[in-house]
Order: sequence, then C-alpha cells, then structure tokens
Amino acid sequence: MNLSSLNFFRTLRKDNQQFAVIGLGRFGRSVSSTLHNLGYQVLATDIDEKRVCEALTEEIVSHALQLDSTEPAALKEAGIFEFDTVIVAIGNYIQESIITTLNVKEGGVPHVVAKASSEVHRKLLKRVGADHVVFPEYEAGSALARTLTKPSILERFDLDPDHSIVELIVPDEFQGKTITEIQLRNRYGLNVLAVSQDGKFQINPDPTKRLERGSVMVVIGCNRDINRLPI
Ligand code: ATP
Repeated sequence: MNLSSLNFFRTLRKDNQQFAVIGLGRFGRSVSSTLHNLGYQVLATDIDEKRVCEALTEEIVSHALQLDSTEPAALKEAGIFEFDTVIVAIGNYIQESIITTLNVKEGGVPHVVAKASSEVHRKLLKRVGADHVVFPEYEAGSALARTLTKPSILERFDLDPDHSIVELIVPDEFQGKTITEIQLRNRYGLNVLAVSQDGKFQINPDPTKRLERGSVMVVIGCNRDINRLPI
C-alpha cells in the first residue's frame, strides 16, 4: 500500500454495492468470491463458457456471463459500462487485457482496476487509462523478501518510495530503555508514533515510557534510517 493507491481507494464510493470482474482465472475467482462472501453483488465474465459455468455452480458469484471483453458491444450489452468499479483480471493475455481495459475506460467506467503480469504490462495498463494496477506476483514476492530479511517488521505502509510507517517488534537493544534514552530522533531521525502495551496501542507515547520485551512500536521516517535500526 502507498499514497498513490490511497488516492485511488479514496475515490471509491462507500455505498458501491456492485462490482464486475472480467476474467475468471485464479485471481479473478479470488476477487469475485471474496466480494461475494462479503455480501456484494458481483457480475463475473469470461470468454470461456466452462469457467462461467464453474463460477455459477460453485456459487462464487451472483451473476456470470460468457463474453469476449475485447468486443465493446458485448461489454455494453452485458451492462458492464454501468458499473462504478470493474476489475480486469486477465493477467496472462496481455493484448486482451489492454484492449479490455481500454474498452471499459472508453465505456465510461470511473474506477478500473487491472491486473498486470509484468512491468511493461503495468505501464501499458496505465497508458490506456487503468485507474489502479495490481501486480500480485511482484507484490507478494517483494513482501515475502522483506519479511524473510527483516522478520521484526510486522507491517509496512509505504508513504512514497523513500518514506514509510513501520510496525516492528521492539529491538533487543531498546528493551528496558525509555523512548528518551534510545534517542530515536537524534540517532536515527525517526519518530515513534505508538507503542503497544497489553495488546493495546498507546498513541504518542510519553517519552519516559519504557519499552518492554515483546512490545511493538510504530515508527515513521526515511527508509534508509529504518534500515539502520538494530533489527
Ligand atoms: P492466474 O489464474 O494464474 O492467477 P490470471 O488470473 O492472470 O492468472 P489468466 O490466465 O490471465 O488469469 O486468465 C484470466 C481469464 O481471462 C481466463 O479465464 C480467460 O479465459 C479469460 N479471458 C482471456 N481472454 C478473454 C477475453 N477476451 N474476454 C474475456 N475473458 C477472457
């Protein structure tokens, strides 16, 4: 998650109850079934009749249609252009994915999320108007690499490419010391936003607060400085 993603999610209408998902591969099915289980109306489409039937039989969506999404007329007839949010879940067929995204944007859909399967694909989707692009394989791989190399960092929110808010287990070196004593601001240029205590977070903790073993702290700052923490 980062600020540009946040801008997109802020524009989504809270009362939106309907979503259209184009493509019923593993990703499209996962988005569809989760939305469906959350109680939203989902219209799923695929060019492959078998996948459409499976989605209906397994009841992962409320409605499913067979159509070729590279055909604007087919999308219009299915009412896809009336949706507020459409998810283009075609990762492996780049030409179809690009044409579909273009069609849906030209049809006037305000929020189009598209799945990319490579960096070039991501750029092309942006060029044809996708409002938000997800690249699940890259994002999952990157998150795994970060977790493997910095297991103490539990959660990370990227503000921009250089700055983040991270939630981390209090490093051994800081245990038993107060926030003043660890001199996080002077030594690392970082600010403590919160510290956990008995499973609850104390926001803007008192500088005299002692950091306990097993506690969690939330800090904000430059990635370069976060990487210097003794974790
Ligand atoms: P994975 O299943 O590995 O997660 P994915 O979610 O990216 O990959 P793809 O292999 O890209 O899925 O397939 C997505 C679906 O898109 C397939 O079921 C395919 O039949 C469908 N599809 C491909 N071309 C079109 C098209 N022109 N119109 C509608 N659906 C299409």
